[in-house]
Amino acid sequence: EAYLRRIEATNARLNSYLSICSELALSQAQTADERLAAGEAAPLTGIPLAVKDIFNLEQTRTTAGSRLLDNYVAPYDATAVARLKENGAVLLGKLNMDEFAMGSSNENSAFGPCRNPWDPERVPGGSSGGSAAAVAARQAVATLGTDTGGSIRQPAAHCGVVGLKPTYGRVSRYGVIAYASSLDQVGPVARTVEDCALLLQAIAGHDHRDSTSIDCPVPDYSAALQQKIEGLKIGLPREYFIEGLDADVQKAIEAAIEVYRGLGAEIVDISLPHTDYAVACYYLIATAEASSNLARYDGVRYGRRVDPGKGLIDMYCATRTQGFGTEVKRRIMLGTYALSSGYYDAYYLKAQKVRTLIRDDFVRAFEQVDLILTPVAPTPAFGLGEKLDDPLQMYLSDIFTIPVNLAGTCGLSLPCGFSTAGLPIGLQLIGRPFAEQSLLRAGHAFQ
Ligand code: GLN
Repeated sequence: EAYLRRIEATNARLNSYLSICSELALSQAQTADERLAAGEAAPLTGIPLAVKDIFNLEQTRTTAGSRLLDNYVAPYDATAVARLKENGAVLLGKLNMDEFAMGSSNENSAFGPCRNPWDPERVPGGSSGGSAAAVAARQAVATLGTDTGGSIRQPAAHCGVVGLKPTYGRVSRYGVIAYASSLDQVGPVARTVEDCALLLQAIAGHDHRDSTSIDCPVPDYSAALQQKIEGLKIGLPREYFIEGLDADVQKAIEAAIEVYRGLGAEIVDISLPHTDYAVACYYLIATAEASSNLARYDGVRYGRRVDPGKGLIDMYCATRTQGFGTEVKRRIMLGTYALSSGYYDAYYLKAQKVRTLIRDDFVRAFEQVDLILTPVAPTPAFGLGEKLDDPLQMYLSDIFTIPVNLAGTCGLSLPCGFSTAGLPIGLQLIGRPFAEQSLLRAGHAFQ
């Protein structure tokens, strides 16, 4: 009830929730009370959580931030959501996001931008802007987001909270509306690394409904938090400490490096030589996959239909013209172009080869070090509208997070200080595939 009141009092200002599920939450809370009284608590019993509006939540509106799905009611739960429920969680509602998770500022939402709780004239980051803002504004204890190129880590950094992108395959994507299927991954946003560990524990693991979810044992993440980090080798990739990095960000990251040195970690200079190509490579692969995934929104199978009454093709056109926003259309066009015959080899196939080189950079780096430390974003949260007219500038804000998705490995974003203007700054730790426990342990030691 306290969280629902808090959401009611703050949501008009922040626009972080797209749907508030009061009835569901109160009935789950009631059940939680009964379980607790009976001494049958599960790890998340009674904990008020919320999820990005990209997760199917049974019998609830699920929009993915798009007008095309503004009347779509999910007929079943995403696996990650089902696992939160099984673990006793209370679900408060669905959180704002860039349309189909395409964006870095939440300004591409069809339902208006979500605002940064630290400064409402600034963006919360994106695409999981609502997931990060809700945690920062105490509208939920923790939330789930998705991360295709930085969408958990970058908003977590801009809102001063912790966000984890697990390894590709660690968490099931079943029931999560697809953007770029070879990059999308589900993960937690919370105030502490410890809370992220608890949420990951609940949602991680194999799911026969997602053939890309991996059948390997899920470690005890909370137990991993207790391990010392003395002797851990942390790499600093020289390609990430570049000109253009905001001076406050640079200072906060340097201070964080000293904290790790003080805790007994060994700091090593490393190189990820193909970093420069990551953004270009990502925007070919992500848009190609998106153009294919979004073909299903045809006015027949899901959500909105606009039918001028002149036949099937006109119905498709009118539905997609009115249903999709500008950025989504731009990406469908880019992706379709990159996949079209004659251009496939030059763009899509080339991007796949570059992706392998980027992945190999990480494989080699992890022969030398246990973790990699970088900034999450080149600047703190930018102003609303600042980058809206310049998509390339917006794409570049993900320069430090995108390589992790291309490599398929895991990354943790955690607060490491404030800018002179009082805005939060985030630190990124990158780990070996399926070594979330090392990230959590190093993040916890820092906090
Ligand atoms: N900002 C990136 C994009 O627009 C990443 C988004 C995401 O991770 N979903 O594609």
